[in-house]
Amino acid sequence: MQKISKSHPRYQSLVTRELIAQAMKHGIVHETGLIAHGRGEAFDYLLGETTIPLADSAEKIAAAALLSAKNPVISINGNVAALAADECISLAKNIPANLEINLFHRSPERVKKIAAMLRKKGAHSLYGLNPDARIPGLDSDRALCEKKGIFTADVVLVPLEDGDRCQALQGMGKIVIAIDLNPLSRSAQAATITIVDNVTRAVPRIEHWVDTLKDTKSSHLVKLVSTWDNSKNLAGVMSFLSKRLNSFS
Ligand code: ATP
Repeated sequence: MQKISKSHPRYQSLVTRELIAQAMKHGIVHETGLIAHGRGEAFDYLLGETTIPLADSAEKIAAAALLSAKNPVISINGNVAALAADECISLAKNIPANLEINLFHRSPERVKKIAAMLRKKGAHSLYGLNPDARIPGLDSDRALCEKKGIFTADVVLVPLEDGDRCQALQGMGKIVIAIDLNPLSRSAQAATITIVDNVTRAVPRIEHWVDTLKDTKSSHLVKLVSTWDNSKNLAGVMSFLSKRLNSFS
């Protein structure tokens, strides 16, 4: 790994870039994952590289949905494995939830590499290696999933998901929680709960709310989720971004 000086003003961003680049060299991240990361970075810059209160509200509701689910699943792709593997494993244990490797550019080698990495880091219940079901409405290998995992999940956390799959999961009647720095993406627009935050900050923050809400009555958690207004939250994020941009002029 290239040495990055801690005094560099963009230290965190450079470390994250290096992580993604290394993960691509090791076959964890697909080359298009670098492009997706760049788009995310641009929006994070606009947000101020911080968890804004509107994102934190969504993170709280995400925790409520995951805690009140019968079969919650956290979907892992290459970028998520590179940037937030430990955080996702910890969150899955705390809820508890299953992890499923679900790749847009799927290859058996990449699935195996990500699985080995997650297991080495302590992941227990891990799906995705032996797909035996398909998400309806999606072509090619990106529809592949496991019956006991994503296929029958009632709540799915999809960090950095593509819009089609997010919509297809919604179409199956699931509660879909998206983590996406771009509030305009199709995933962000289609999800039940959209968290406009960096996956590296969002996952630990959801876990914080899991700890806080753990002893809350199930009926209260369900009410928090059912009364969540995702469009209102997204409109708030858009307004936050435009005010922030205007403040520079
Ligand atoms: P869609 O299909 O949903 O319209 P897209 O084509 O941009 O969106 P992808 O390129 O598949 O979707 O996914 C990348 C998305 O993930 C982008 O919206 C990007 O902003 C977001 N993203 C990238 N890195 C991060 C990150 N570290 N944390 C959160 N979101 C991120």
